[in-house]
Amino acid sequence: MTKMNTPYLAATQRQTDVSPEEWAARIDLAAAYRLCALNGWADGTATHLSARVPGTDHFLINPFGLLFDEITASSLIKVDMDGNALSQSEYEINFAGYVIHSAILAARADVTCVMHLHTDEGAAVSCLEEGLMPISQTAMLVCDQLAYHEWEGVAFELEERERLVEHLGPHNYMMLYNHGLLTSGKSVAEAFCRMWRFQRACCIQLMALSTGRPIKTFDYAARTRTTEVGARIGSPHTHAEWAAFRRQLDRISEDYKN
Ligand SMILES: [Zn+2]
Repeated sequence: MTKMNTPYLAATQRQTDVSPEEWAARIDLAAAYRLCALNGWADGTATHLSARVPGTDHFLINPFGLLFDEITASSLIKVDMDGNALSQSEYEINFAGYVIHSAILAARADVTCVMHLHTDEGAAVSCLEEGLMPISQTAMLVCDQLAYHEWEGVAFELEERERLVEHLGPHNYMMLYNHGLLTSGKSVAEAFCRMWRFQRACCIQLMALSTGRPIKTFDYAARTRTTEVGARIGSPHTHAEWAAFRRQLDRISEDYKN
């Protein structure tokens, strides 16, 4: 495995100038960026993950222009719900990122973290009329909690926020048709672990369809039991999963904590 070094640290936010809670949120979110890079889920400088600064209406998001494997706790930009940058940075934020993330964080008090990605497999499945097909166990953990949002072009229009919120409803998984994947959660851990399952389900679907062979039928009661398990997966479970992912990252490099 390649060791991930940060060639250029756009460190702008000193740890001593923010609350311990904000610094912890910065480290958690930076870890999520690095894990996305590690898993090949990044799309250059496009796409974005956000986390609410605990106890505030502000959120952290990536500086536009850094790759995911360059993100550090100190380089994340804090913005308010109107898109004003509250951290000094030589970088702007991605406006489409602001539109998508501010919509969900403002409307859903239960959500702390939003992840939006254009993974190869997620974007490919988002182009299918059927969307995510409940054909694998992994997909069944996701499919009954999955919302869909019609493509409206690059999310540069503030009006789209209304539809994003309406379509997501109370869910934490959303497929953005012809575009990509979105998850949310009450922690970075929850949003990341949901994205893990969502992405895996898309990979399995594409591989199964690529064989051109008939899809195996399954027992409907087992499907129902599995979708119920998917709905119950929450913090205690994802806390352990996230800790394991963080250890994996720390074995490679801890410079995301800078
Ligand atoms: Zn996008």
